[in-house]
Amino acid sequence: MKLILLGAPGAGKGTVAKQLTQLDGSVQISTGDILRGAVQAGTDLGKEAEGYMKRGDLVPDSLIMGIMENRLQEPDCQKGFLLDGFPRTIPQAEELKKLLVKLGIELDMAVNIDVPREVILDRLTTRRTCSNSECQAIYNVKSHPPKKEGVCDKCGSPVIQREDETEEAISHRLETYNEKTAPLIGFYEKEGLLITVNATSSEAVIDAIQKKLGK
Ligand code: AMP
Repeated sequence: MKLILLGAPGAGKGTVAKQLTQLDGSVQISTGDILRGAVQAGTDLGKEAEGYMKRGDLVPDSLIMGIMENRLQEPDCQKGFLLDGFPRTIPQAEELKKLLVKLGIELDMAVNIDVPREVILDRLTTRRTCSNSECQAIYNVKSHPPKKEGVCDKCGSPVIQREDETEEAISHRLETYNEKTAPLIGFYEKEGLLITVNATSSEAVIDAIQKKLGK
């Protein structure tokens, strides 16, 4: 399947994407994961992106489009991909549209995961992430803690609170979402690709996607 996952930070895009990869071999492409990996590795991309990310600002569109143009042409994308956290602005969506035409790829749909703000705030403050950039498994201190406190179940690396998950950065990320990313809902509605799912469980989101895909 070839999907865009839309939704505020904490809506569950990453969790849904990870579960969908188990269904048909589609790959999760998270620009946030790619950028955090680059910051950790200290690459030029990471150095450029780090300040924006810490503040909860978006990284410039040109950097993101460079990453995505390369990533979408890697062979593992042929079975399908789940775009998690991209596009995040109207210019990114417009560039993506052109890129997909160029690559001869057709999207199945854009899924807007719509979750109440209280749930988002609670999730983001209690979310923990594996610090290994190759893993980046997601935990939650209340609903899904690692088996051993502070240690990733999957790879054994430390599980940490992301630097952009302080209260200040979270509220800035949500403002940025409302201002820059929420307009994509209208964009994909006009494209005839949008489905909106009001659900706080990843299973319900996945059910809605599968129904829409006729599976
Ligand atoms: P995420 O893990 O999706 O919440 O992304 C973490 C941070 O990475 C965001 O707050 C942005 O600073 C940056 N980022 C991720 N994806 C994008 C994107 N498509 N456009 C611009 N910045 C992004």
